[in-house]
Amino acid sequence: MLLLLAAFALILGSALGSFANVVVIRLKEKESLWGRSHCVHCHRNLCTSDLVPIFSWVCLGGKCRMCRKPIHWQYPAVEFVMAILTLVAVLRHAFEGPMGAWAIGFEILLSFVLVVITAFDLRWKLVPMEFVLGSTILLAAYRILLGFSALQLVLGALVIGILLGMLVFASRGMMMGEGDPFVGLLMGAVLGFPLSLLGLLIAFIIGGSVAAALLIERVVTRKTEVAFVPFLAAGTLIAFWWSQPLEVLLRYAIG
Ligand SMILES: [Zn+2]
Repeated sequence: MLLLLAAFALILGSALGSFANVVVIRLKEKESLWGRSHCVHCHRNLCTSDLVPIFSWVCLGGKCRMCRKPIHWQYPAVEFVMAILTLVAVLRHAFEGPMGAWAIGFEILLSFVLVVITAFDLRWKLVPMEFVLGSTILLAAYRILLGFSALQLVLGALVIGILLGMLVFASRGMMMGEGDPFVGLLMGAVLGFPLSLLGLLIAFIIGGSVAAALLIERVVTRKTEVAFVPFLAAGTLIAFWWSQPLEVLLRYAIG
């Protein structure tokens, strides 16, 4: 039963990853979501066997079947990550009864949004603002329907959004880009106050460690723009997964 459920989650997740890839590309190209998928180099339509998540990319050796030009690593990476995150969401809430289904739905939606903006920022060092703002409202509304306090969510969004906005202003965009505060709004509206502060702290710890490692290995210099959305996304997910133990800890810390 558990194996069957896990297999189903992985298949569903990789299919959602495929869709996330479409959303990433169409957000950049400002195309409609409903056209047929095509190769970005030769513009020929892809056939069904080219569209199997992960496997198609591996079987084709990462190249287009027709023009043999490379297919970006974004495709298999997004499909793989989305498959794993969907598996995690399903396994976390599969045995919670009817409310579990709603919780799974929320977690998959959250993962989808975070994966899309992470891939977008890694590729183009940009944040798709309208997509982020729309998703923030959708995710906050979903959480409120699940019984979370609206006041906490609004407070969380404002605190993280303003904090990151001040950082961008103070560092004149050197520390992070002007799109990052909008992702901060999303983080705050998902985690609420005060958990969002811990999410932000986790993002800074992971981001700082990765940036330091990249500097030491000379992969980047001090002037290289490092995408910050992946760390905000990781901080959001980690704080969300461990929200209950973290909240207990936080309550102790505050007294
Ligand atoms: Zn092609």
